[in-house]
Amino acid sequence: MFHRIRSYCLFGIKAVPVSVEVDASQGLPGFTLVGLPDNAVRESRERVVSAIRSIGKVVTGFRTTVNLSPADLRKEGSALDLPLAIGMLVSTGEICVEGIERFVFVGELSLDGLLKPVRGVLSIAMSLPRDDKNILVIPRANASEASLVEGLRYACFDTLGECVEFLESGNLELVAIAKGMSREDCSAVSRDIPDFRNVVGMEGVKRALEVAAAGSHNFLLVGSPGAGKTLCARCLPGILPDMTDEEILETTRIHSCARRAGDSSGFRPVVNRPFRTPHHSASMVSLVGGGSRLSPGEASLAHNGVLFLDELPEFNRSVLEALREPMEDGFISVSRASGTVVWPARFMMGAAMNPCPCGFSMDPKRVCTCLPDARKRYREKISGPLLDRIDIQVSVPPMEAGALVDNGRRESSADIRKRVCAARAIQRRRFADLPFKSNAEMTSEYAKKFAGMSPEVERFAVSAADNMNLSARGFYRMLKVSRTIADMKSAENVEIEDISEALRYRTMN
Ligand SMILES: [Zn+2]
Repeated sequence: MFHRIRSYCLFGIKAVPVSVEVDASQGLPGFTLVGLPDNAVRESRERVVSAIRSIGKVVTGFRTTVNLSPADLRKEGSALDLPLAIGMLVSTGEICVEGIERFVFVGELSLDGLLKPVRGVLSIAMSLPRDDKNILVIPRANASEASLVEGLRYACFDTLGECVEFLESGNLELVAIAKGMSREDCSAVSRDIPDFRNVVGMEGVKRALEVAAAGSHNFLLVGSPGAGKTLCARCLPGILPDMTDEEILETTRIHSCARRAGDSSGFRPVVNRPFRTPHHSASMVSLVGGGSRLSPGEASLAHNGVLFLDELPEFNRSVLEALREPMEDGFISVSRASGTVVWPARFMMGAAMNPCPCGFSMDPKRVCTCLPDARKRYREKISGPLLDRIDIQVSVPPMEAGALVDNGRRESSADIRKRVCAARAIQRRRFADLPFKSNAEMTSEYAKKFAGMSPEVERFAVSAADNMNLSARGFYRMLKVSRTIADMKSAENVEIEDISEALRYRTMN
């Protein structure tokens, strides 16, 4: 008998509907699987047959043909185990299910019939219509993802046996309706973030990071080893505004696609802005995504958060250059024979580096032992176009030992965060009808429009940028930072002092 079972496959972040068509007939026993399956799918027959045997049913002894449609899409991973098992059970007449077309099955099976979680369930849940003609059947370990999509109907199980029992009974009491995200879940998660209160001195660096956070600008900290660059950067998540519900869904969806298949550890929505710190030995695939599984890279996992690259010059140059696309456009596209996969990747890029290979050229108490040539080569590892995209470049002065015992009152991250949130609120109002969320995302045209400079201020900006040899891109990026500085004072227009401060953040150009 022929049966068609609904399922989904991932293509990048997109969930694509797939039907698993199973035809079992009398004749010479055999099994044929067609429709561009990858190895994991090809091997699924062995898992499925064992899992079915574990619940006391038999599907061998038939001539079985399975087609995965659409036939031109490459099916990958083990998520098709469950639909395949159900398809074999119904087409061989082992079970009888009424209205099977309203169920969508996703899940990996183990040999003993356990249902194991798969990646990308949130994407699948988001693409399903929310009515009772579409019920998602998933492993229990994926339930936390499905429950985020308000109004979605889903049923989750630990084993194939439970799932079959549910289908045969036709009892829909086990179908849950997702309530959507609850704020209580979100606030329960906290992270160990260092507080700016514990950072002694470095007022200039704190100010620069506050500006960066307020407008979501990219930043680079340059300073001697031990000056506290990494500590300052790690404090940053503590002054960033909370994610909106929409941002939480966007980011969680990417993390759901990056999940390892079979990983049963609890999956939680990503409610804190990501702060990703890839090591400088990171490969192209691990940073921008791709690979055989078409997984998202660190840049996408940092979506709506911060991608922090410590020891920037130590990164492979071609890997850094690949970041230019997402820094400009907010997404990464990976081309494949089967089509182009687009990953969202709108992040704030942070980086830190030493001023020279030995690290001490900025330290008045130490002697730099680098030859001028070596110093030049070191700086040249960061290309001009990349540096151009880093709006805020600050020198971190070496910490003085005396400053460590200073007990003066310092602002906490929470105090700074209040100002950052106020500046972001101004930006939200400004961009209410525009596709931007922060000043850093504005196009050049809007950067000029919203700066609202008087002719005098504009003349100043142009001549100062000329003196500093800023590129056109550099000029507009500088304007965006000025806009943020003005927002931090709730000022209507950008003034000369805002531009001067923004220009001071371009020390490396
Ligand atoms: Zn040196």
